[in-house]
Amino acid sequence: MAVKKRRKSPAVENEIINLTNVSKAYSTGAPALKDVNLHISRGEFVFIVGDSGSGKSTLIKLLLRELTISSGYINVMGYDLSKIKHRKIPKFRRNLGIVFQDFRLLKDRNVYENVAFAQRIIQKSNKEIKKNVPSILAIVGLAGKYKAKPRQLSGGEQQRVALARALVNQPTILLADEPTGNLDPKNSWEIMKLLEQINENGTTVIVVTHNREIVNAMQKRVVTLRRGVIISDEEKGGYIDED
Ligand code: ADP
Ligand code: MG
Repeated sequence: MAVKKRRKSPAVENEIINLTNVSKAYSTGAPALKDVNLHISRGEFVFIVGDSGSGKSTLIKLLLRELTISSGYINVMGYDLSKIKHRKIPKFRRNLGIVFQDFRLLKDRNVYENVAFAQRIIQKSNKEIKKNVPSILAIVGLAGKYKAKPRQLSGGEQQRVALARALVNQPTILLADEPTGNLDPKNSWEIMKLLEQINENGTTVIVVTHNREIVNAMQKRVVTLRRGVIISDEEKGGYIDED
């Protein structure tokens, strides 16, 4: 297959994510990412696709500075992540929102508390929390469910709570690792439409997904990983068939 290069020049306007020759090896097994070059501008919407084991979650964890690179250079929002001091990591993460496949809600807290919790961590005042939480719950369509516990919600609703929690601190970048992996097609579409809306309001959105139909329909930038290598990076791309 021809390797398509999205850009000829490495100079990227308004760059918010820069991975240059990044490799990541775990202590066991083959390298999870090999010589990855990825440049993302502020305000982009990017799908990351690829088979299971191709390195998608590793990439997300590097962007969160949950993992460190083995070699190369990584800069996110102006932070050189191989040099960042441990005490600065919380401040760095404050500008990131993250959503996972399995929602990761606090099971014994209601919807409101799950979202308010994110604001308490960054020491928002009660007054601000009382303003921000209802407004974000309205955006994700859960205004009427603020007292419900996670187990009283459908999967789609739980993922919306997770999305509200990721958004309430107004992140610069929203990272979503297979956010629709546990959802039916209707809820998957609703979550993706919300992600698109969030992006239209200025947030840079990076979504790992296996949802071929949605990727093909949404016509966004698509980065395809195969065995730790970016094999394609296209504007208005589609899902590449692996065989
Ligand atoms: P994806 O999210 O695309 O399914 P991952 O990034 O989770 O892929 O994994 C990429 C590769 O790295 C796989 O071969 C996987 O087995 C390996 N890997 C992931 N996490 C670890 C780990 N903590 N320790 C060792 N190997 C890992
Ligand atoms: Mg994964």
